Amino acid sequence: MFRAWLQPAIDGLRIDTIAASALNFDIPLVTLVPASKTLGGLYVLELFHGPTLSFKDVGARSMAHLVSHFSRASGEALTILVATSGDTGSAVADGFSGLPGVRVVLLYPKGQVSPLQERQLIVRRPGVTALAVEGTFDDCQRMVKEAFALQDLSNANLTSANSINIGRLMPQSVYYMHAVAQLGEADVLFVTPSGNLGNLTAGVLARRSGLPVRRFVAAHNANAFFPDYLTSGDDSFRDSIRTLSNAMDVGAPSNFERLASLYSRNELADLLWSTSVSDEETLVSMKQVYDDYGYIADPHTAVGLDAARRYRETDGDRAPVIVLSTAHPAKFPLTVKNAIGIEPETPARLAKLLAAETSVSTIARETNALLPHIAA
Ligand SMILES: *Cc1c(COP(=O)(O)O)cnc(C)c1O
Repeated sequence: MFRAWLQPAIDGLRIDTIAASALNFDIPLVTLVPASKTLGGLYVLELFHGPTLSFKDVGARSMAHLVSHFSRASGEALTILVATSGDTGSAVADGFSGLPGVRVVLLYPKGQVSPLQERQLIVRRPGVTALAVEGTFDDCQRMVKEAFALQDLSNANLTSANSINIGRLMPQSVYYMHAVAQLGEADVLFVTPSGNLGNLTAGVLARRSGLPVRRFVAAHNANAFFPDYLTSGDDSFRDSIRTLSNAMDVGAPSNFERLASLYSRNELADLLWSTSVSDEETLVSMKQVYDDYGYIADPHTAVGLDAARRYRETDGDRAPVIVLSTAHPAKFPLTVKNAIGIEPETPARLAKLLAAETSVSTIARETNALLPHIAA
């Protein structure tokens, strides 16, 4: 797959090395309900077995190894600028740390990520600057976009690492294929917990590359821009609302324009079904999934599982369903405890990260406030 996209820009053996070092963890397909004669099974694709426990490790690590390959070839130093609603920053910082010639500056909305996510972001890493912005995630995202246009930074050799970056997006198509290969059945339905719609777009690109996918479900929390767009055609962006599944708190999804340039609204409505799940429904979903299947889902995955249930009830579709699990439940111990009464176990790699030293500066939500941190 990597070879089909990257040859001849990178030679084949080198591509294999990059893929092997970036994707060096398991992505298992877990069966919640086996298929019956009349109904396809229900499965969870666990994307959280990487170093920072979210699916963002897949794209971030792949991009880091690709960027490192090209910056070594050109000899130019790069600054990666990234806005994060929680998981991107730590995955990017972790993926790039230790690579020569690359600095990472990450912005996150102060007080709007969980304490545990924040620890993961501000762990002191060589070549990484963490900035807590006094604003929302959308402010952070806007500042990154504006920084690229700033005259003062025209020589800074900036690169983005948000999910608009194709170097992160395309590698994510690989696990959609990996899931279908593990299941051994075509014509499946994928449910993707969505915020900026990068993960979903990666699935759509996999389908355009030939993967036999029946349909996608875009599972959103209370930030309902996309489901509303599909039903009403209203494409005005909104302010983000804070929810329990905070990595999906996006009112202006950055991959929307990409999807809308590939498909008309009618085509999108055929290819996709979308729904918005409230915090209350998320907690109920976590409890139900735990009671029914003994499975502990994090709040993002729970939004996906509830969307899967609704889709089947609404549409009567009997195809196998694969819900993408985007984060490890141990990243949200309080929410999990609230929902099911017990705390998930903390994996060793998380405990180690939490014990490490930290470093962070607070800045105003103005693009100019970035200057000293980038120029430095
Ligand atoms: C980033 C993130 C999402 C949303 O993914 P998008 O590609 O932005 O749609 C969902 N769940 C978790 C845990 C995330 O970190």
